[in-house]
Amino acid sequence: MADVTLDTLRKEFDRGTIVAVDDIDLELEDGEFVTVVGPSGCGKTTTLRMVAGLEEPTSGAVRFDGEDVTDIHAKDRPVAMVFQNYALYPHKTVMENMAFGLKMSTDMTKEQRRERVTEMAEMMGIADLLDDKPDELSGGQKQRVALGRAIAREPEVFLFDEPLSNLDAKLRTEMRAEIQKLQKEFGVTAMYVTHDQEEAMTMGDRLAILNDGKLQQVGQPTEVYENPVNKFVAGFIGSPSMNFIDVDVETDGTTATIRDDESGLAFELSGEYVTGRDLESGPYTLGIRPENIVVKEAPTGDETLVSTVEVVEPIGSDNYIHLAINDDFLARSRPDIKPETGDEVGVTFEEEHIHLFDAETGEDVF
Ligand code: ATP
Repeated sequence: MADVTLDTLRKEFDRGTIVAVDDIDLELEDGEFVTVVGPSGCGKTTTLRMVAGLEEPTSGAVRFDGEDVTDIHAKDRPVAMVFQNYALYPHKTVMENMAFGLKMSTDMTKEQRRERVTEMAEMMGIADLLDDKPDELSGGQKQRVALGRAIAREPEVFLFDEPLSNLDAKLRTEMRAEIQKLQKEFGVTAMYVTHDQEEAMTMGDRLAILNDGKLQQVGQPTEVYENPVNKFVAGFIGSPSMNFIDVDVETDGTTATIRDDESGLAFELSGEYVTGRDLESGPYTLGIRPENIVVKEAPTGDETLVSTVEVVEPIGSDNYIHLAINDDFLARSRPDIKPETGDEVGVTFEEEHIHLFDAETGEDVF
């Protein structure tokens, strides 16, 4: 199989007025599954299309196993792509659809192609659909056919462009597991594009987070979740999202006081979190995830702040408590903590989970 390198890869459109992909450097190890995630228009699809050979880079290079493939035509690259809309030929049967890629990219005989497709179809649990036409299939079956067709070509690199967007939630979860299983079974290097951060968190060995054409961070899902490099990544990864509030920090290098006069937020960070961290006094954006906020139904005086409950949403295992801080702040609490709308509650941020972002650049500094 192949490792894949994106070397300062850049794509401009409309004579440079649109920079869709802004000098991305990324390496996928042989057999690795990397999800590329980011909001709509951040350059995910364009990046994937350049790896596939469907889009010519403005500058930079794509390498497979160290070999520059930038000028090699899509059909001559050892890649298979799976799309959101399945891209099946409506007038061909499942067998013909799956065999077509083999016909174009290999010199197998018709008999060999039928054999390979039958084998793949059995593996994918779609052997009984081989004579059907695509419009006789459900969304999940169509996506299995598209996957089977891609695998039948025995690619070295698998490229997925939001392949599960058209499926319902249950099927999506099933197919996520199936795609990962197949990818590991075949040991194929995979690049998987999605705008869905939950999908990215659950599927990739590593995530690559894009915003505005720029690569923000690459890392294992838990690493990115726990140590986001900036406010964008912190807010994008994790559901429900991290809460943010502008604060002022005063520190002498051994202790630090954090305040926001508007919400009444005021607390002192323990020395162990301040010493040796190079924190300077000044304005910051504080970030805290909903699960790292402790709500007490009766304020005790030693909390981070006292706030009013706006709404409580029970989700079974936990309660989401919406607080009147900075328009809306969400705390995730044990189900037995069940204040009512309008109640004043004690709110404490777990200090080991507090993030501080530079107020101007958004860079994570703490
Ligand atoms: P989505 O999740 O909505 O598909 P994306 O992250 O895949 O978005 P791209 O489709 O790669 O983003 O687009 C990145 C940027 O490049 C967008 O601003 C888009 O409008 C622009 N773009 C993409 N293709 C072209 C094109 N052929 N001509 C001009 N602009 C383009």
